[in-house]
Amino acid sequence: MLLPDHQYLTVDSLSDCLKALRENGERAQVVAGGTDVIFNMRLKLFEPDVALSIRRVAELQQVEELPDGGLRIGAGCRLVDLVEHPLVNERYPAFADAVRAVASAHIRNIATLGGNICLKTRCWYTNNSEQWRQGVKECFKTDGELCHVIKSSSLCHAINNADTPLPLITLGAVLTLQNADQRREVPIAEFYRKDGMDHTVLAPDELVTHVTLPPVADRTVFLKIAARQGMDFSQAAIAARAAGTGADAPQVSLVLGSISMAPIQLDQPARTVEAQGLSDEAIEQAVAQVRAELGELTSLYARASYKSHLAKVLVRRALKALREM
Ligand SMILES: Cc1cc2nc3c(=O)[nH]c(=O)nc-3n(C[C@H](O)[C@H](O)[C@H](O)COP(=O)(O)OP(=O)(O)OC[C@H]3O[C@@H](n4cnc5c(N)ncnc54)[C@H](O)[C@@H]3O)c2cc1C
Repeated sequence: MLLPDHQYLTVDSLSDCLKALRENGERAQVVAGGTDVIFNMRLKLFEPDVALSIRRVAELQQVEELPDGGLRIGAGCRLVDLVEHPLVNERYPAFADAVRAVASAHIRNIATLGGNICLKTRCWYTNNSEQWRQGVKECFKTDGELCHVIKSSSLCHAINNADTPLPLITLGAVLTLQNADQRREVPIAEFYRKDGMDHTVLAPDELVTHVTLPPVADRTVFLKIAARQGMDFSQAAIAARAAGTGADAPQVSLVLGSISMAPIQLDQPARTVEAQGLSDEAIEQAVAQVRAELGELTSLYARASYKSHLAKVLVRRALKALREM
């Protein structure tokens, strides 16, 4: 599968990068590690005029310790650097576990945090070769007006399969988005949209430049279920956080991923264990509330009933793991 014709542009500084994005807008595609975007270009899912490589932008590759004990991580940091970073492991173990759970060691050697956060949604009907796609009608992702997953839907139901956003949401991380004129701070909990096509609030001329993590002393956990650990995308994954100790959990956050177009924050199950603690009975009550929070599920990559089952299994495991910490 050959790459479509394009101009490969490499920039050395953030200001040159933002200028190039301003000049090229929707004609450009940012390439960080390239582990996803280059493959999608080979599939002819995107055919940008300009592939803008940010790999040489040193300003995006630093991990800074903040005076309050938090961290500010450059979006261009490679996943391998974060997995090996002592402060990331010590202060944000669930985030470190999620980074470690992305793909294989080979991919983590070049993939970046920004690329994982901005990972395009995936769909069995489109993440296939151009030749294969010729056998099916065009859909929203291929300039058509249809979603093969739910034919009556006015939205694309491709799945957000990124692992690191889940702990970042529970940790209250804030993204810095920047274009050539201005910078804005967006909590990652507000970054994703429930739409497989337009899946984030990022504008075409904006770059995610940094991820800021506040200090967090709570218990946290990240769990992932995949067909082959250390290689495959999640079939479902969860990040969970709880204040307190033992069964006492006055503040709880639960975020599920890889079963829908966006990460799902489970409100009612979290409120249940906040009120009743992490007893086996309260956990089962929370598990029983999970399905109602998932909304419409599709059978993309796995049957809807199996996704619902995985979500419940992960909530039970995560809450029990928090209790044991
Ligand atoms: C075999 C295989 C297994 C995989 N398994 C997993 C997995 O288990 N979990 C998982 O989460 N992912 C997985 N991935 C997907 C991918 O490798 C990772 O998500 C990786 O972190 C993407 O990072 P990257 O730097 O290579 O992104 P790229 O491919 O360079 O970019 C991905 C997208 O993000 C955009 N982008 C990149 N950086 C920025 C930025 N700073 N600002 C704005 N937009 C940006 C790009 O334009 C592109 O749309 C897998 C990929 C493969 C090939």
